[in-house]
Amino acid sequence: MTLPSANCAVCHVAARLTCTRCKVVRYCNGEHQRQDWPQHKSCCRPFREQQDEQLGRYLVATHNVKAKQIIFVEDPLVVGPKWFLTDEEKSASIVPCVGCYTPCRVDKHHCRNCRWPVCSVGCEHEKLECSVLSLGNAPKTKTDVRALVDYYRHDALLVLKCLLLQQQHPDRWRALLEMQSHEEERLGTELHQEAEQRVVGYLQQRFLQRIKQSKQRDSMPSDYEPQLLHRLCGIIETNYMVIELATGIELSGLFRQACMMEHACQPNCYFQFDAATQRIAVRAGCDLKKGDHLKITYTNILWGTQMRHHHLLMTKHFSCRCARCEDPTEYGSYVSAMRCLGDVSKTCVGVQLPVDPLDEKTQWKCDTCPMVVDAAYVTEVQTHMTEQVESLLAGRPTASQVELLLARLSQLLHTNHFHMFNLKHTLVQLYGHEPGLELATLSDLQLGRKQRLCDELYNVCHLLDPHSIKLAIYVSIILIEMTHTLEERARREQAEAAALLEQAELRLKEAQDVVEKVLDSVAGKKLNDKLQKHFAEHYKLTARLKFNKLN
Ligand SMILES: [Zn+2]
Ligand SMILES: [Zn+2]
Ligand SMILES: [Zn+2]
Ligand SMILES: [Zn+2]
Ligand SMILES: [Zn+2]
Ligand SMILES: [Zn+2]
Repeated sequence: MTLPSANCAVCHVAARLTCTRCKVVRYCNGEHQRQDWPQHKSCCRPFREQQDEQLGRYLVATHNVKAKQIIFVEDPLVVGPKWFLTDEEKSASIVPCVGCYTPCRVDKHHCRNCRWPVCSVGCEHEKLECSVLSLGNAPKTKTDVRALVDYYRHDALLVLKCLLLQQQHPDRWRALLEMQSHEEERLGTELHQEAEQRVVGYLQQRFLQRIKQSKQRDSMPSDYEPQLLHRLCGIIETNYMVIELATGIELSGLFRQACMMEHACQPNCYFQFDAATQRIAVRAGCDLKKGDHLKITYTNILWGTQMRHHHLLMTKHFSCRCARCEDPTEYGSYVSAMRCLGDVSKTCVGVQLPVDPLDEKTQWKCDTCPMVVDAAYVTEVQTHMTEQVESLLAGRPTASQVELLLARLSQLLHTNHFHMFNLKHTLVQLYGHEPGLELATLSDLQLGRKQRLCDELYNVCHLLDPHSIKLAIYVSIILIEMTHTLEERARREQAEAAALLEQAELRLKEAQDVVEKVLDSVAGKKLNDKLQKHFAEHYKLTARLKFNKLN
């Protein structure tokens, strides 16, 4: 990750002293630190914690902060395997290595002491965790895979890791217990029952109740009552952050401060995770003003409100009530909107929008005629379409296959609907690249189509995420495809070439700026490499077309 510089902020030599207040800026000596303070003052921890009834604790900017500036860097309280598992993940025979989280087979290599699955012989994990796990009766490797999968519940490890902080980091343990758990509200709910069966009862019976008889009991946690474990489950559920490693592996982490950031379906901050140190750096996604709340997004912002709500309820157990969620048009993007079919006597050009987007049983009303449909109908149509879109895209479709589905869905969906977006985003990457549809072979009509699609996609992204914080990858891809289109037009339209190439260069530079936010991911790195090559080709093309003109 692009962590803070390791060099002195004043003289730029390698430096070891760190500003003790923010731990972001480095200095080679105290003199340079004092010298820098008047400038550094305004960006050193430019935020504070606040609290109110509705939001609980949250973070607010105390100074203006420039886009991409680091707001704070923080050590984790705990980082561990992915917390919220789907049913498939719960029963999969590929599990994260107990040492490094690399996916590995549950029946191949095992830790010598505790027998938990590891990626390779010699991949080690934390000692105390290993001792506690050693208390269990690990099944024989030759046992039925299902029994192995049921024994090695990696999501429960996150709770164990929390519990072990009692011994390992008492300060982190105290900070953890200060976090919200919604303990009381959880009692008697399905969530509580699930936690009891999958995690609490499991950890108790297999490992923790055996601590009393262990010779090493003095170094192990003494407090592991079911009630405490339930509280830890609640704390994780309420606060955990999803961390995606550059390798694509998903982890879950708890951070004292970062977890206080509000969720909103339009973020103004983003974070980068450094796998080596497990530290998180929170950055401003756009210019922030003094008093702005720091917000990040815990869900896919390309989804419509219904799907985001469902996802947030499932994974984070809360209902978002942000400005986008309250707006039936979702900032004018219409990503959930359905087309009105009119009635038997008359067709209609209007769109159906939810009357109250925050109520899942809401009616959907046409903005032009009196037509009303109920939520069940909308859900049914959406689910059916999700299946169609997913199955088409999974099979590496051709441009004409995507066009076909797009035409079918366009009869029921607004042109910006998130299913339409998904198909169009695939399409702009096929025109100009698919064998037989290379840039030079596209007809002017097809080239125009590619350009129009890029413009439409770009506009939707801009409405939902004006600073390309969460949609950085999507937006960079769109910008790169826009550049391809503009360059191809420059090759075809001599008279316009100079102006088109100028536009193309601006798009490339914009893509470069956007991609910087995601350099810590595999996709981001790949896009960045692609961009560098594209820049070189772009300048070659510019030189060639200029030369042609001179002759
Ligand atoms: Zn210095
Ligand atoms: Zn500082
Ligand atoms: Zn490993
Ligand atoms: Zn072990
Ligand atoms: Zn929202
Ligand atoms: Zn209508």
